Amino acid sequence: MIDQKKIIEPEKVACEVCLKEIPISEATSVKATDYIVYYCGLECYDKWKKQKEVSQEESK
Ligand SMILES: [Zn+2]
Repeated sequence: MIDQKKIIEPEKVACEVCLKEIPISEATSVKATDYIVYYCGLECYDKWKKQKEVSQEESK
């Protein structure tokens, strides 16, 4: 029997705002309507939230 040792790389996601790659376990994630958005931190989450509010205003 072959003992297969797989190197499991931590799953990484890109921050929605600054596009920095971060391990999924460290990411701040927010469930949007039909997908999950990831951020490296609350600072980026704040930025994203403000951007979203602005674009919603514009699309009215
Ligand atoms: Zn970020």
